[in-house]
Amino acid sequence: MISRRSFIGFLGGFSALAVSKAAFAYDIGELLGRKKSEREMKDFPFKLTDAEWRERLTPEQYRIMRAEGTEPTCSSPLDKEKRAGLYHCAGCGQKLFSNNNKFESGTGWPSFWQPLTPEAIGTSTDYKIGVARTEVHCSNCGSHLGHVFEDGPPPTGLRYCINGVALKFFPDQAS
Ligand SMILES: [Zn+2]
Repeated sequence: MISRRSFIGFLGGFSALAVSKAAFAYDIGELLGRKKSEREMKDFPFKLTDAEWRERLTPEQYRIMRAEGTEPTCSSPLDKEKRAGLYHCAGCGQKLFSNNNKFESGTGWPSFWQPLTPEAIGTSTDYKIGVARTEVHCSNCGSHLGHVFEDGPPPTGLRYCINGVALKFFPDQAS
């Protein structure tokens, strides 16, 4: 029969093991993690530390905007948003897209045929799925937004396929 003291000691040892295992998993992820993307190598005017980004964003936003993840299709209410207004970066507030350039792509992600201004966004090449794709990010804070494809409608023929969680919508006051 084990004494209370040794049982507590056992629990303490167990939680210490759990913590060190978690730390190990985290470190190994860092060590074996992908090398920095082209976007992450860039320098942006709006800078925060990784800890500050984690504080500022929801875990889902962090996964997508800082680690170049993708939200599930049809998950964003902004996909169906049709009101007049502007879409700001959820990371830094920079104005990125307008409803005037939004279209229904049928993909389940908010889609635009051009950004609000060419300067609002930056692009990089990513090979995450094994083929080259043009990644799109906020030019001010470098947060990943989505990708741009060449199968969009006129006049540009471009389709900016954007994660809704990376955007904050501000409807026009008049609408
Ligand atoms: Zn931004």
